[in-house]
Amino acid sequence: AKNNGRNNYQFYAAAMHEGAARRLQLEAQLRQALERREFLLHYQPKLDLASGSVSGFEALLRWQHPQRGLVPPLEFIAILEDTGLITAVGEWVIGEVCRQLKEWEAQGLPLPRVAINLSARQLEQDDLAGTIERIVHAAGVAPALLEFELTESMLMSNPEAAVEILERIKALGMRLSVDDFGTGYSSLAYLKRFPLDALKIDRTFVRDLPHDSDDAAITMAVIRLAHSLNLKVVAEGVEDIAQLRELEKYNCNEIQGYYFSRPLPAAACTALLLGEQPL
Ligand code: C2E
Ligand code: CA
Ligand code: CA
Ligand code: CA
Repeated sequence: AKNNGRNNYQFYAAAMHEGAARRLQLEAQLRQALERREFLLHYQPKLDLASGSVSGFEALLRWQHPQRGLVPPLEFIAILEDTGLITAVGEWVIGEVCRQLKEWEAQGLPLPRVAINLSARQLEQDDLAGTIERIVHAAGVAPALLEFELTESMLMSNPEAAVEILERIKALGMRLSVDDFGTGYSSLAYLKRFPLDALKIDRTFVRDLPHDSDDAAITMAVIRLAHSLNLKVVAEGVEDIAQLRELEKYNCNEIQGYYFSRPLPAAACTALLLGEQPL
C-alpha cells in the first residue's frame, strides 16, 4: 500500500505539473487569440411566450482554437478573468454584437435585441458605462437593441458602486437583467434598488419542472414577485415542452433553452430573422 501511495504521489505531482503547464499554455494562447481573431459569438434565441416569436438573442462567446476546435466559455472564461484579459475580450464582444446588428440592418432584417454577458472584472473596470457608450455610438447602433446580463453576486459585492454604473448604462437607453437568478444571495426587495428590466431564473430551478414541487413553488413565487416589481421573467435551460407548459401557467414572459433552440452561429440567426415577421 505504501508503494502504491508513493506512486500515487508521483502521479499526482506529474498531473499537477501537467495541469499547470497546460494552463500556462492556454493563457499564452488566449493572449494571442484576440489578435488572431479566434473568438466568435454564437447567439441563442429567446422565445416570447405571449407572442410566440423570437424576443431577442443572448450572445455567447466561443473560442475557435487552431488545434482543439470550438472551445466553450467555461474552459477559458475564468482564465480571462484571472488575467484581466476579460476587459479587452469583453469590449470585443460588445463591438462584435454591434457589427452583427449593423450587418443585419444592411440586409433589411428585423433587428432583434441582443443580450451581452458582463463579468465582475468589467464592472470593476474604470468607466464601464463610458466604454459601452463609446463603442455603441461609434458603431451607430440603437442603444435600445442592447441588453446587459449581470449576476446577483456581481451586484451584491459592491452594491453602491453597481447601482451607480447601472444607472448610467440604463440612462444610455439599454436594458439590464439579472442572470442565474436564485443561485446567489439577494432579495428581490434589495434588487429593486437597481434599475433592472428582467430576471433570468437559473436553469437549476427549471430542470426538474413540473415534477419537483419545491422547484415549482419557488419558480411560481419568483415570477409573481418579479411581476409585482415590474420585472419581466426569462426562464433559462428549458429543454422540453412539459417545462414550457408549466412556466406558461405561471405567466413566465420568455423562455430560453434547447427546447426552442441551441445557441446558433450568426448565419443561422440570419436565416431565422429572414423568417420572422417584421415588427
Ligand atoms: P450563462 O450566461 O448562464 O449562459 C447560458 C448557458 O446555458 C450557455 O452556455 C448556454 O449554451 C447554456 N444553455 C442554454 N440553453 C440550455 C439548455 O436548455 N440546457 C442546458 N443544459 N444548457 C443550456 P455557454 O454558452 O457554454 O456559456 C456558459 C457561461 O459562460 C455563460 O452562462 C456565461 O456565464 C459565460 N459567458 C458566455 N459568453 C460570455 C461573454 O461574452 N462574456 C462573459 N463575461 N461571460 C460569458
Ligand atoms: Ca447569461
Ligand atoms: Ca444564466
Ligand atoms: Ca451562468
